[in-house]
Amino acid sequence: IASHLLAYYFTELHHDQVQKVDKYLYHLRLSDENLMDVSMRFRREMDRGLCRDTNPTASVKMLPTFVRSTPDGTEKGDFLALDLGGTNFRVLLVKVSENGKQRVEMENQIYAIPENLMRGSGTELFDHIADCLANFMDKLGIKDRKLPLGFTFSFPCQQNKLDESILVSWTKGFKSSGVEGKDVVNLLRQAIKRRGDFDIDIVAVINDTVGTMMTCGYDDHHCEIGLIVGTGTNACYMEEMRHLELVEGDEGRMCVNMEWGAFGDDGALDDIRTDFDREIDAGSLNPGKQLFEKMISGMYMGELVRLILVKMAKDGLVFQGHTTTDLLATGHFKTSYVSAIENNKDNEGLANAEQVLRGLGLEPTTEDCIITRRVCQIVSTRAAHLCASTLAAVLRQIRDNKAAERLRTTIGVDGSVYKNHPQFARRLHKMVRQLVPDCDVRFLRSEDGSGKGAAMVTAVAYRLATQHAE
Ligand code: BGC
Ligand code: MG
Repeated sequence: IASHLLAYYFTELHHDQVQKVDKYLYHLRLSDENLMDVSMRFRREMDRGLCRDTNPTASVKMLPTFVRSTPDGTEKGDFLALDLGGTNFRVLLVKVSENGKQRVEMENQIYAIPENLMRGSGTELFDHIADCLANFMDKLGIKDRKLPLGFTFSFPCQQNKLDESILVSWTKGFKSSGVEGKDVVNLLRQAIKRRGDFDIDIVAVINDTVGTMMTCGYDDHHCEIGLIVGTGTNACYMEEMRHLELVEGDEGRMCVNMEWGAFGDDGALDDIRTDFDREIDAGSLNPGKQLFEKMISGMYMGELVRLILVKMAKDGLVFQGHTTTDLLATGHFKTSYVSAIENNKDNEGLANAEQVLRGLGLEPTTEDCIITRRVCQIVSTRAAHLCASTLAAVLRQIRDNKAAERLRTTIGVDGSVYKNHPQFARRLHKMVRQLVPDCDVRFLRSEDGSGKGAAMVTAVAYRLATQHAE
């Protein structure tokens, strides 16, 4: 009987705490109407980005990628790929071969980029990239070969062709000087020249969303959207050429890198952004920029939770009003903690919450742990639901393009938040289906889109280029 009572007591307590937090964080909880509204706003932003007259002032840039088709299966050869802008910087060797069914094999090496290089001079950054490339080729004994290379560069870039990519602005943790406004292909070529001990053929620069769509498109021909929810967030999709006013020609389709992280940079989301969002932005490397991304992606999620817990502690709602130096330190509540705390298996989440809070020097009660878990749930649910609302807009756009009553489509997805958070994917899928019930959507996890994808795009471009040359 006693244990029954105890269980009852804890459920009641739980419920009470949840209600208290929900009330406190009212503005972080978006209703279905809010989300539908955000979705409509985003659809208008897409339009503004696509049209020639409104593009210059649009915050969602809808950048043409010059990627027009997925692999046809006849590509083959060895390709180098660089992946910069996700959780890790990597160099890859991808073998595309034509043995009945095309296969892609790879060597893959992660290299560190020290923080001082992420925020130092651009020349140093590109020298480091060239050094890593040289090290990789040395190790594989391929330094004497001039291989074609695809560069996954996961930042907003203005492209006029596949092998020219002018950085619009750095995002996430990068801020190296003298790169914005420059062609990153040129910067890389120059760095390789400075070393002078190897040569490569830079064929394509792509965004990670594009790589993700391409790798998934290889397995599922309905794939026409690429989504990333990782360190940053963004999506791309196949748009009709006639809607892409910035690019000559009306025939066929082209992949558009939306750069949806910048949604809200013109104030369009000010009514749903909270004081916590403003605080995150003010303390970031790029204040006023990527406001939608800052409400969602892995670079900010843990920090949002930390800011909320600090405020709650100061208001006496948790930790008996105490804070610690660690709790007060920027970046000390990692996004991986959010994932650990939301683990639903046998109350493992609550145990993780206790461990995390103790690690921050706190002495949490069971209540504190329950509250912390609730804060994590609210922050990560908002992120998933906001992604769902923008995705819903993209789905409606594609459905209208095809004048289809029902759209059947596939979304290729990648990113640390999508893949590692225990509830994120499920909540995202559910809300997308709720917002666009007339679409049959399949979510397909990409297997290393930012690595393999660059090689796939390069392989296609290389095939076309050599065909033309012949
Ligand atoms: C960048 C995008 C990228 C996304 C996901 C954003 O910060 O601007 O280009 O696709 O992060 O990596
Ligand atoms: Mg990546």
